[in-house]
Amino acid sequence: MSIQAFDLISVGGGSGGLACAQRAAQYGAKVAVIESHRLGGTCVNVGCVPKKVMWNAGSVGQALADSRDYGFDATVDGHDWRLLKEQRDAYVQRLNGIYARNLAAKGVTHLQGRAHFLEPHTVEVNGARVTAPHVVIATGGVPTVPRLPGAEHGITSDGFFALESRPRRVAVVGSGYIACELAGAFKELGSRVEMFIRRERLLTHFDAMLGSALLREMLAQGVLVHDHVVPAAVREHEGLKALTAEDGREFTGFDCLLWAVGRSPNVAHLRLDRAGVAQDAAGFVVTDASQDTNVPGIHAIGDVTGRAALTPVAIAAGRRLADRLFGGQPQRRLDYRMIPTVVFTHPPIGTVGASEAEAREQFGGAVKVYVADFTPMYHALTQRKTRTDMKLVCVGPEERIVGCHVIGLGADEMLQGFAVAIRMGATKRDFDDTVAIHPTSAEELVTMR
Ligand code: FAD
Ligand code: NDP
Repeated sequence: MSIQAFDLISVGGGSGGLACAQRAAQYGAKVAVIESHRLGGTCVNVGCVPKKVMWNAGSVGQALADSRDYGFDATVDGHDWRLLKEQRDAYVQRLNGIYARNLAAKGVTHLQGRAHFLEPHTVEVNGARVTAPHVVIATGGVPTVPRLPGAEHGITSDGFFALESRPRRVAVVGSGYIACELAGAFKELGSRVEMFIRRERLLTHFDAMLGSALLREMLAQGVLVHDHVVPAAVREHEGLKALTAEDGREFTGFDCLLWAVGRSPNVAHLRLDRAGVAQDAAGFVVTDASQDTNVPGIHAIGDVTGRAALTPVAIAAGRRLADRLFGGQPQRRLDYRMIPTVVFTHPPIGTVGASEAEAREQFGGAVKVYVADFTPMYHALTQRKTRTDMKLVCVGPEERIVGCHVIGLGADEMLQGFAVAIRMGATKRDFDDTVAIHPTSAEELVTMR
């Protein structure tokens, strides 16, 4: 068996692995990226990027629907899902090529194949041994499919991006990011959508205001939401799927059922046991604050660690790890606090920091909350309406802002800058002292009383 030696190997060429490998190579390290599928990983191929294309398509649909109210004489004759998919796939393919060229330009060796550990610092890929003092596990995650009778009749987000045509009637099971985003995409492009959630709210990991407001908006769009449905089984008859709940209720007649109930670590083929790498109860690779595992020289970043499964988090963790290992910055590590995030629903959600409930649990009576809700000016002329809800969570006599939550038009582009200020310790007074930008929705955040 041939042996190739490197300074660093990244197992996985997704957001985290690519970022770490390229930063390490910039410092002069000899680096290999091993990727079993397409470069770019989940985000580029079956995640953020194609999802955002679908979200954009939904936004175009809404603008077309509103266009008459703004004086346009536009007639829309349906939507061509297949064309959209072709355009989307072509874009993703271009990105795959750009990633390959970027690796080559930085002198990173790209090994195409699935790797598994032989021993702590050696992995096997395509029958060859590849070894390095630093191995980064960056294998990401896979969609979770519940172990239920007939679960295989459902698709996951991966299957969503493979759909060649728009399903007529869709059941979406789950209440998190993916359920809400993909239910929205289906709905905006013309499917009849029913969501099945285990509790009474959407987005239960976020500030309660966001889930309630999103539920209101989705109901107004015509999405049916069935609450307190714990899935028990799926049946298929003549191409139509039926979902049975634990309490015996049955929901029938769906030509597509989408599981969106979380993601699991992609470790099944890695043979972590041969390296002795510790995993938690759910199988995620256990890491410390510096992305180190329990085995010296083996590190893990991104979704496989089960911490804040977001692309910029995987990238930041990967780059900081390379800075620490090869860039002479021994203290460099990712601060996992105050990570802003957007849920690409219609309207979108932007959120950073503690929810009101989390803040009250931690700071009790020292918490003060400011809220605003209004109809954005865009809708002054449109028959279709959406509302905007905002919340600032403040703590202590100085009213330090520890959470900022927005659902409404433009929230996706609004939060990045506010996140910088809040991370730097901004107080309510700092917001009040900032002159508003008018007329925008964002100005409400600096004029709350
Ligand atoms: P991945 O990007 O998953 O990369 C892991 C790579 O490792 C994969 O390419 C895989 O093929 C490869 N691999 C696995 N095992 C092996 C092996 N044994 N050998 C070789 N290669 C292997 N995040 C956001 O920030 N914004 C969004 O809008 C967003 N939208 C999303 C939408 C969806 C539908 C999904 C599913 C996710 C979304 N995410 C979003 C999350 C984001 O995609 C992930 O957090 C991010 O891709 C994690 O990067 P990673 O490097 O940890 O893993
Ligand atoms: P999430 O963790 O966001 O949500 C999954 C939800 O499904 C859970 O919160 C739970 O809600 C519900 N659920 C879990 N098990 C079951 C079950 N057996 N039956 C019914 N419902 C169940 O996971 P997603 O799959 O939506 O997304 C995975 C991750 O990917 C996200 O956490 C996020 O980090 C990332 N992502 C980021 C995006 C972005 O940045 N815009 C977009 C998409 C994904 P409850 O407990 O309320 O029942």
